[in-house]
Amino acid sequence: MTQRFNGKVALITGAASGIGAATARLFASEGALCVLADISEDGAKALAAELGDSAMAIACDVSKQSDVDAMVQAAVDRHGRIDILFNNAGIGSFGTSVELTAEAWETVIAVDLHSVFYACHAAIPHMPRGSAIVNTASISGLGGDYRFAAYNAAKGAVVNYTRALAVDHARDGIRVNALCPGLVDTPITAGFHDIPGLKEDWTRRIPMGRAAQPEEMAHVAAFLASEAASYVTGSIIVADGGATAHTGQPE
Ligand code: NAD
Repeated sequence: MTQRFNGKVALITGAASGIGAATARLFASEGALCVLADISEDGAKALAAELGDSAMAIACDVSKQSDVDAMVQAAVDRHGRIDILFNNAGIGSFGTSVELTAEAWETVIAVDLHSVFYACHAAIPHMPRGSAIVNTASISGLGGDYRFAAYNAAKGAVVNYTRALAVDHARDGIRVNALCPGLVDTPITAGFHDIPGLKEDWTRRIPMGRAAQPEEMAHVAAFLASEAASYVTGSIIVADGGATAHTGQPE
């Protein structure tokens, strides 16, 4: 096994589950010192216990700037710096703009978008040259989905914010890229099982004919965070089994 992240400090949000947990396991297996942040304190602690002494857990609601400031401070207090920031925590939304309440809209924008600003604002001053930020956006940030209005808005903003971050911080030696997953088998999509036929219909539209496993997203995040991506910044990397390559024309 290569050790791409030997001694690197990786701060991962939404680390207790799905893509975040898979990425934390991969980073740790390659030598990273993982700081695992999640609104689920129990989930973050359980993963930290699994990963051993090199990992620490932090309870953090990424939609609250004070929580995010405390999360970054805890990482810096323990390790003195942050080499990899994986802004991954997120929630979905369901409903058209008429159906969504303003409160639901604001919650999704706060968790999926404001959080990325809060974390970058607090962490970048502690990131040395050679550091990397990876933001989990979504293919839902590249186009419109039926009844995903708030999620589409938040993830679309994360995509363009990633470009702005990359431009602003290129000369600081900090690379910033976005990962845009398609459908991934994680708890966030588990609710789709409640809507008859939705998951099957969605999967049928993916040229590869299946959802991704979270580990497949972890490998993309790891590439973007690693030295192998030393000239990659401001890029929006799609990993969607061909979903966005497809025109929508019936088979
Ligand atoms: P998940 O539900 O398994 O993991 C999300 C994690 O974020 C959970 O551990 C949850 O507790 C945490 N979280 C939620 N709200 C939080 C908050 N306010 N503060 C801190 N932590 C919070 O889902 P996932 O699929 O692993 O999602 C990870 C990221 O991937 C999200 O940004 C999601 O939008 C994105 N994404 C997922 C898919 C998919 O199909 N699963 C597709 C595209 C993008």
